[in-house]
Amino acid sequence: MEKLHIDCEGGNYDILISPGTDDLTAELPGKALLVCDSNVAKLYRERAEKRFSPVDTFVFPAGEENKTIDTVMALCRHAAALKLDRKCTFIALGGGVTGDLTGFAAAIYLRGVNVMQLPTTLLAMVDSSVGGKTAVDIPEGKNLVGAFHQPSRVVIDPEMLSTLPERELKNGLAEVVKTAMLGDAVLFELLEKHAGELLRKPLPARLYEEIIRRCCQVKSAIVAADAHEHGCRAFLNYGHTFGHALELLSGFRLAHGEGVALGMVVAAKLAVKLGICDAETEQRQLALLRALGEPTQLPEISPETWLAAMRGDKKAHDGRVVFILPEKIGKVRAVGTLTEPEIVEFLREVAP
Ligand code: ADP
Ligand code: ZN
Repeated sequence: MEKLHIDCEGGNYDILISPGTDDLTAELPGKALLVCDSNVAKLYRERAEKRFSPVDTFVFPAGEENKTIDTVMALCRHAAALKLDRKCTFIALGGGVTGDLTGFAAAIYLRGVNVMQLPTTLLAMVDSSVGGKTAVDIPEGKNLVGAFHQPSRVVIDPEMLSTLPERELKNGLAEVVKTAMLGDAVLFELLEKHAGELLRKPLPARLYEEIIRRCCQVKSAIVAADAHEHGCRAFLNYGHTFGHALELLSGFRLAHGEGVALGMVVAAKLAVKLGICDAETEQRQLALLRALGEPTQLPEISPETWLAAMRGDKKAHDGRVVFILPEKIGKVRAVGTLTEPEIVEFLREVAP
């Protein structure tokens, strides 16, 4: 079993990466409430109930459309009906949707209880389960209401990836490429070397373990340095400024990872144009994304529409769009000096 430790503002916890057979009957301080969506319930509920002996399991209908305050309230009311006290732990078994809304419920129920993250998607294993960001969606936008609330523990069982649909796997792989680009050149080389194996069933378990461990390491180091995103945590948004806007403009037909993949393609082009990185770096990233089956062909949208969508992003500062751009494989920097006419001109050059 691999064990990473993270020590940051608001928390201090272990990330355990272990194959499913390990016995992890955790010494929880109080009662546990398991939370999962209807898909994950069918696959992993029984196993998790055996492993963690929760007093009950709260199942909600699968789908991003249920990542709402209503589901959070239903979960809190369920906990209240069970008379769960401050020592209780909510266990989030699932992808980003489950992790986000369970984390948020744990942040506000009795002004804060423990949450343990058991991510079941690659995206959640390599990104969203670590770092304590929790949120729900509102009609005005995704993740606009939430809180920082660090988990008390993250337990990752890479074997759960075997049931994940391919599109979800690719979604997570886009975040893996992001992580490699912003902080782990060795991981990037590992991905280049094994790209052809990563989508082939049966999935290479050892390789995924190594990938997940490396991603959690990069993310932990960043979160430890800047839990509340005042500085370097913004590096984790590499590909996201351009990408979120594309997701939004597609009416969310583009999956998050697809948006991020396209966002990284554009960010690297901008970096080359500004002389921040060389063309070889951009080409290597493009080749890797293609090898992993990620989309790299930009949709047709007007530069003005694209810019307006980026301006609305909650990561924009005082209306100025800040881009995270690659310097080389494994290193990025924040650039916030572009004027809006410059951004539009650049988007016009890259638009199909
Ligand atoms: P993320 O935000 O991490 O991409 P979601 O929570 O939106 O993930 O989950 C994506 C979809 O995959 C959901 O329909 C969910 O029920 C399903 N899912 C999650 N984990 C697994 C798994 N291990 N095997 C099969 N389906 C899964
Ligand atoms: Zn992301």
